[in-house]
Amino acid sequence: MGAPVDLTSYAELAVQLVNMGDELRNPFSLRSLLEETGRTEAASRLTRRDVDALWELREELTGVFEAAAGGDDVDVVDRLNGLLVRHPVHPQISGHDGQPWHLHLTEGGRVADALSVGSVMGLASVVTRLGVDRLGLCQASPCRNAYIDTSSNRSRRYCSERCASRANVAAYRARKRGA
Ligand SMILES: [Zn+2]
Ligand SMILES: [Zn+2]
Repeated sequence: MGAPVDLTSYAELAVQLVNMGDELRNPFSLRSLLEETGRTEAASRLTRRDVDALWELREELTGVFEAAAGGDDVDVVDRLNGLLVRHPVHPQISGHDGQPWHLHLTEGGRVADALSVGSVMGLASVVTRLGVDRLGLCQASPCRNAYIDTSSNRSRRYCSERCASRANVAAYRARKRGA
C-alpha cells in the first residue's frame, strides 16, 4: 500500500470484486486478482474463510451499486453506513519495506477483513468526494458490471470499451431498422 492510503485503488477493488461474479468463489481466481493488483501479501495469506467472507461482501457491494444506478442516494448512504459499522477501520502507521511512514486501514487481521475495510472505505470516499452518481452499472444489456465514473463530465455509462462499442452497434442497427 502506498502513501497515504490509496482509497481510489480500493474503490476499484470493490468494482473488481463485484464484477468477478461467481468466479469470486474460486480461490485461484481471487488470488490472481490480488496478485494482478499488487496485493501479493494478501494473495499469499488468502484462506477459504476469506473467500467465503468476500463472497458475502460482494452481495452487499452489489447492492450499493444497484442502489446508486437506481438513483437512490439515501439507500446508497444507508448501505455504506451499515457496512462501515460492520467493517470498522483500525488504522496503524506502517513503514514496511523501507517505505516512508504511511497509514494502513486495518492491521493484523484476516485478509478478508483488510480487503472489506478497504473496499468499503474506498466507496465511501468516492461518494463523499465525488458524489453517489459516480457509481454505476453498465447499460449495455445484458451486462450489469459495476464501474466508477471518473470522467470530467459524468458521462460514463458502460463498464468497458468493449461494452461501449457493443451498445453503439446495437443502437446503429436499431436506427437502421427504424429508418
Ligand atoms: Zn503499506
Ligand atoms: Zn459492460
